Amino acid sequence: AENQPLADQSPAELAAFLAAQQQAYTDLQGKGLKLDLTRGKPAAAQLDLSDALLGLPTGPKDSAGVDTRNYGGLEGIAELRAMFAELLWVEPEQVVAGGNSSLVMMREVLTDLWLKGGVDSERPWSQEEKVTFICPVPGYDRHFTLLDWFGIDTVTVPMNSDGPDAEAVAALAANDPSIKGIWIVPTYANPTGSIASLEVAERLASMPTAAPDFKIFWDNAYAFHHLTEDEAKSADILSLASAAGNPHRPIMFASTSKITYAGAGVAFLAGSTETVSWYTTHLGKGAIGPDKLNQLRHAQFFGSAQGVRDHMTQHRLIIAPKFDEVDRVLTERLGGLGVASWTKPTGGYFVSLDVLDGTASRVVQLAKEAGIALTPAGASFPKGDDPHDRNIRLAPTFPEMGEVSAAMDGVATCVLLAAAEKLAG
Ligand code: PMP
Repeated sequence: AENQPLADQSPAELAAFLAAQQQAYTDLQGKGLKLDLTRGKPAAAQLDLSDALLGLPTGPKDSAGVDTRNYGGLEGIAELRAMFAELLWVEPEQVVAGGNSSLVMMREVLTDLWLKGGVDSERPWSQEEKVTFICPVPGYDRHFTLLDWFGIDTVTVPMNSDGPDAEAVAALAANDPSIKGIWIVPTYANPTGSIASLEVAERLASMPTAAPDFKIFWDNAYAFHHLTEDEAKSADILSLASAAGNPHRPIMFASTSKITYAGAGVAFLAGSTETVSWYTTHLGKGAIGPDKLNQLRHAQFFGSAQGVRDHMTQHRLIIAPKFDEVDRVLTERLGGLGVASWTKPTGGYFVSLDVLDGTASRVVQLAKEAGIALTPAGASFPKGDDPHDRNIRLAPTFPEMGEVSAAMDGVATCVLLAAAEKLAG
């Protein structure tokens, strides 16, 4: 009964299958592995691609003659703003180049909305009786912990292959004024790899909302992080929203964390020019200017927007084989058994693995006890609560190729054992 769906196997076959998986798991534990697939970090070989940064900039002045060693220029240096404006399909004056973390920028924007309200708010969000965000699931765990930290309520909608379920979002936003926003990773979503289609983006940009200051946090962390030669282009959310009469609705975020250095890149925010001055005005209460020297070395390192795209090809050549390996091992070990499905992303940093309902936390526990660290089950849901206990996020970029193979083989064993326990138990 090899490769026959487990659910179709006789009790005797299932009992034999369970015994075989228990033995396989004992063997796995005997290997004494110590592997980590928890976070989407670039591998050392990827960081090495950007080491020319360590010899830059060639001088302290940017091409506009600004001395980047000094204070000032809250919105970032002009040449880097222009470069990323081209990449993100917006105008240079709609872009802020900031510090090393877009997640910090997102927290700042939420803080400013909370304390002061947005350009289109009636009052600060903290003065609302209740604030709710729509969360496509599975999604990015740090979005959810940030919302939780603010005391912002969450309501989930499905993340489909063409982006968030736009009709579900529109229905929620239309009727409830406490619903103030949605977080979207539009291109190569974390963790599903979905790409928000133009139709979905258009619907979200134009839908009527009960809250006048509804915000789309358009977190384009993986905008250029293609895994195939077919390079998806993100929908132009700022133009779509502007054309629909909602110019202040989207706020876009991106960074070079997974382009140059995860700890020393440059982060970007983009929005209407009103949103940009709203953001820099509040930023200016706590800063006199960003690390312009880091911005300048990035501008010199890339040379142009095309330089960024070319650089991303180098990343693809390093990490795409790891994603292929994940798919190869999972297909070989789990294919046809009806116990798991997984994404085959064309970009981004993750594979989303769905196992039998009720077994994800068991799989993560088994893996841990065999020396394989996985992201906690439920991490891709608000409050860490996956209602079906089925989703596991896999991050294969950081480990070496051999480690990816060993880890995925081990994960497959854990998936099979957990499934056998459930079905035979
Ligand atoms: N957004 C998403 C969707 C991410 O996956 C990550 C990194 N894992 C970030 C933001 C963090 O970006 P940054 O390094 O610019 O703070």
